Amino acid sequence: MTDDVSLLAIQKRLTALKLAGMKKTLEMRLQQAGGDAVSYTEFLSLLLEDEIQNRQDNKRKNLFRAAHFPFEKGIEDFDFTFQPSIKKREILELATGNFLQTTTNILFIGQPGTGKTHLSVALGIRALTLGKTVSFTTLWDMLDILNQSRADYSYAKKIQGYLKPDLLVLDELGYKSLSPQSVQDLFEVIARRYEKKSTIITSNRNISEWDKIFLDKTLTTALLDRLLHHCQVIEIKGESYRVKHKN
Ligand code: ADP
Ligand code: MG
Repeated sequence: MTDDVSLLAIQKRLTALKLAGMKKTLEMRLQQAGGDAVSYTEFLSLLLEDEIQNRQDNKRKNLFRAAHFPFEKGIEDFDFTFQPSIKKREILELATGNFLQTTTNILFIGQPGTGKTHLSVALGIRALTLGKTVSFTTLWDMLDILNQSRADYSYAKKIQGYLKPDLLVLDELGYKSLSPQSVQDLFEVIARRYEKKSTIITSNRNISEWDKIFLDKTLTTALLDRLLHHCQVIEIKGESYRVKHKN
């Protein structure tokens, strides 16, 4: 009885001190200590290790949530035999995360359903497990948010959200042409991340057609100049996985 009361009291104190990891395992660790011959120092060490582990797990989960991936798929889920124009070795090299050290950008070009988003998500997940911060967004969502942020004067804060992550994925460039303001906003993001952080862009349009999306030759040249200076362009020339596997 006394033991139960003191267990509750300890758990309350752990809550007050925000030591959720220790609280979770306290009962189990106490039983373990009672059964085996665990020393005081060992007991305390195990309990502290539980707290560290729990904090690391929570941090990982929060970073994952903050990345806003549209789905959770890895390199291991990608069927390279279906898309032979993609060099598996090249993707595996990217999956080491070295491109983040050299602040290299990645551009996936290919028709819809060829796996551009899948590979971007997979590289994003790898970057997270390497302890990097990642943010995934469609290009349209980013430009929309930046555009709206002007109305409530939160532009400076909002753009930071796209400048800060070690890896920014901008998905789906190329369905519709952009307004001059949006082209300017995209240029701002690319130029300010240039040689500081890596960016992945996916597009269903070849680079040679981008001036049709941006409607501004000078800005297109300036943007491509920064984007492509350190960039791995991966062109996927194949069929849609969705169409092939629709049954
Ligand atoms: P894209 O972004 O190029 O339009 P996605 O990456 O969204 O294409 O791929 C469409 C769907 O098909 C996704 O569910 C993706 O996981 C799957 N997919 C595409 N290519 C492959 C592949 N080679 N192996 C396994 N799944 C694939
Ligand atoms: Mg896509």
